[in-house]
Amino acid sequence: MKILLQFPEGLKKHALKHAHKLEADGHEVFLSASPSYGACDLALGEAEALGADEIVHFGHAKFPIAQPVKIPIEYIEWKVDVKVEDLAATLQELKGYGKIALATTVQHTHEIPRIKEFFKSNGIEVLTKKGILPAHEGQILGCDSTAIKIPEAKAVLYVGDGMFHPLAIEENKPVYIFNPYTKEFRCVNEDIERLRKKRRGALAAAISAKTFGVLVSTKPGQFRMQVAKWAKKELEKLGKEAQIIVSNELNPYSIANFSVFEAYVNTACPRIADDLDLFGKPILNPDMLEEMTKTIAEAGKH
Ligand code: SF4
Repeated sequence: MKILLQFPEGLKKHALKHAHKLEADGHEVFLSASPSYGACDLALGEAEALGADEIVHFGHAKFPIAQPVKIPIEYIEWKVDVKVEDLAATLQELKGYGKIALATTVQHTHEIPRIKEFFKSNGIEVLTKKGILPAHEGQILGCDSTAIKIPEAKAVLYVGDGMFHPLAIEENKPVYIFNPYTKEFRCVNEDIERLRKKRRGALAAAISAKTFGVLVSTKPGQFRMQVAKWAKKELEKLGKEAQIIVSNELNPYSIANFSVFEAYVNTACPRIADDLDLFGKPILNPDMLEEMTKTIAEAGKH
């Protein structure tokens, strides 16, 4: 079989080992060098050009892709254990809440039962549920934090590294992170609020823009042409000029060369809108465009 292997950046160092194993089993193996940001990001174009029979996608769990995918995809999750005893550092702060919602990434979802047990034995009930897009209970993605929407929970604890996932948490409750690698534990509501403020700033700045680029990514799980066409129409109704810009990778530097655009509407990964500094211009996600339309309509009434 002809197999294309795809790894997120952090796992590319393990690629050769997996390639050797498959070659030893008699397969012809290719490595995809393209960035792989999530399970939404399948190297279908490369697989097609190679005539591959299968893509083996490492590091992410299965993700619902709206468009038909003709080639079989095998998802191989990457699991990392958590030293559960280290969570002792969180007890003093979390005890007062009684019930907390737990969120983590695919690397640590297998540890959820042990984490629950640890907190239970220390008088804290941990609640989890399955979100809309993620494959596992308690798992969140940078674009989907619905797993923490648990009304009975009084606070949220995210176990994992980095700020990409916790910044996706949209909840008006105390949100804490525990990094199992560095043991950092802290409340991140201020960081989340800072991001919300940045988004509000982008929205305010976009109102006066006259020309918009509507960004579409051809990555299979991010391709939303219908939304882009809707956005273009909405913008035109507001008297703005709008054009759809299509690319697999929405590189801010090459997009910047379309210097005519004063702002963007992003229909791809919603977290691209957080990269305002890289794009140097306001970027709105579709929900923010709706908000902008309402704001303009409200202003017109006065
Ligand atoms: S759309 Fe963005 S946040 Fe969601 S899985 Fe893909 S890369 Fe991650």
